[in-house]
Amino acid sequence: MPAPSDSPTRTSSVITGVESTFADRLSPLTVPWRGADVPEPKLLVVNEDLATQLGLDVVALRSADGVAILSGAAAPTDATPVATAYAGHQFGGYAPLLGDGRALLLGELIDVDRRRVDLQLKGSGSTPFSRGGDGFAVVGPMLREYLVSEAMYALGVPTTRSLSVVATGRGIHRTGIEPGAVLARVAASHLRVGTFEYAARRPELLRPLADYAITRHFPEIVELPEGGDRYIAFLEAVLDRQAALVAKWMLVGFVHGVMNTDNTTISGETIDYGPCAFIDAFDPSAVFSSIDRGGRYAFGNQPAVLKWNLARFAETLLTLIGAEPDEAIDAATAVLSTFDDRYNRYMAEGLLAKIGLAGAVGENDLVDDLLIVMKDDRADWTGTFRALADELRGQHSPLTALIPSAHREPWLHRWHAALDRLGRDPHRTADAMDRVNPLYIPRNHNLDAALRSATAGDMTPFKQLLAAVTHPFEDRAGWEHYAAAAPETFTGTFQTFCGT
Ligand code: AMP
Ligand code: MG
Repeated sequence: MPAPSDSPTRTSSVITGVESTFADRLSPLTVPWRGADVPEPKLLVVNEDLATQLGLDVVALRSADGVAILSGAAAPTDATPVATAYAGHQFGGYAPLLGDGRALLLGELIDVDRRRVDLQLKGSGSTPFSRGGDGFAVVGPMLREYLVSEAMYALGVPTTRSLSVVATGRGIHRTGIEPGAVLARVAASHLRVGTFEYAARRPELLRPLADYAITRHFPEIVELPEGGDRYIAFLEAVLDRQAALVAKWMLVGFVHGVMNTDNTTISGETIDYGPCAFIDAFDPSAVFSSIDRGGRYAFGNQPAVLKWNLARFAETLLTLIGAEPDEAIDAATAVLSTFDDRYNRYMAEGLLAKIGLAGAVGENDLVDDLLIVMKDDRADWTGTFRALADELRGQHSPLTALIPSAHREPWLHRWHAALDRLGRDPHRTADAMDRVNPLYIPRNHNLDAALRSATAGDMTPFKQLLAAVTHPFEDRAGWEHYAAAAPETFTGTFQTFCGT
């Protein structure tokens, strides 16, 4: 399908060296496309550290020609932007054709560490995959993705990153008229479980896609011969990265909110920050998304849902794994059955580190019992682990405020005994805990307030919050209000939206 004739053909040389290996090798999964024109572009935020990592000239990016690329109004001179096709299971139901309905893959850049990454725009206008949607995005949700993805990066969670948000000057019809915006996103790739679901129904595409993904993300597997073992190893590698990823989400209290298979990456990065949120009180049943009425994607369900998504992924690979269906199913099932152990191991390692007992296998009961106490007292997830470090420094009041019940002291007694038994120095342990337990996360009430101000034209609260959450472990004077839990009145009514 050709690009609409009224869209611009502008090019700009501010970003050069854009490659298109995905579009070149898997052209049936792509449609060459362009961004919509942008009436009045205004750069709201640009990520200078990331630009430097990508070898881009930050001053040039801020220029009119740079902003034209970041908004989709112009294409990099040597690039062939495309919209990509994918399918996906959304809330358990299969959609055979989704694709980039409001995104444009500009191409790939090689960063200063020689890593290949995708540069993609989100909100750059309709495409052949828009399915009746307008193809646009608005300021609040694009800044939300920018800030939360950068916070996740700072927390050490694998994630896509955000290069910029440009306000377009176009009014977009949502519940009212909202200001339009385009996000520039950087990812290890945009290959998803949904990309494989799409290709699995087009047999000639499946092997080239799998081999492309292996070369790009798991080069160590390329050495294996092209038989079933290679694709079993591929399944196992994706499963392991995703098990590690969801453990990291759980450890920081992150609720993705829309874990459809089209939002589950092959690279193991977090993608799509639509209705995501961080929990305050520890509650496995926490759901924030307005459309998740059944709680399918509740905080505590995330590992099980991921396993379900990986089963959909495994199904797409069966014909590559073996010509004999029963044998292929057995081999894939054997890999899938390792998920729980892998996840539990990553989670146990992370939780032990959070309570100052890194590497102390055999102390898992202590962690499990802390979680029970925290759940009963609805203790603030992020605050409790910092308060435990304070406890080791002789400051008891933060923890008492978070866990007022009588269950606190017996648990503390056992914890101190374990630390003594293992010869852990209290002050050094407290410092080690503060290096893994964040003080500042994008708390829902702070983010909500910052996005409201930004939508009304004041970026100051957003920039201040961004500074705190991108330095999540550093205790700084003046940032205390970013560490406090939301008032109950806020938490009781807070909901997130997909931002479409
Ligand atoms: P998401 O919930 O952002 O992962 O998007 C799910 C699907 O809906 C993807 O195929 C998107 O491209 C598509 N989509 C979301 N918002 C829009 C929009 N405003 N216009 C067109 N397509 C959209
Ligand atoms: Mg998506």
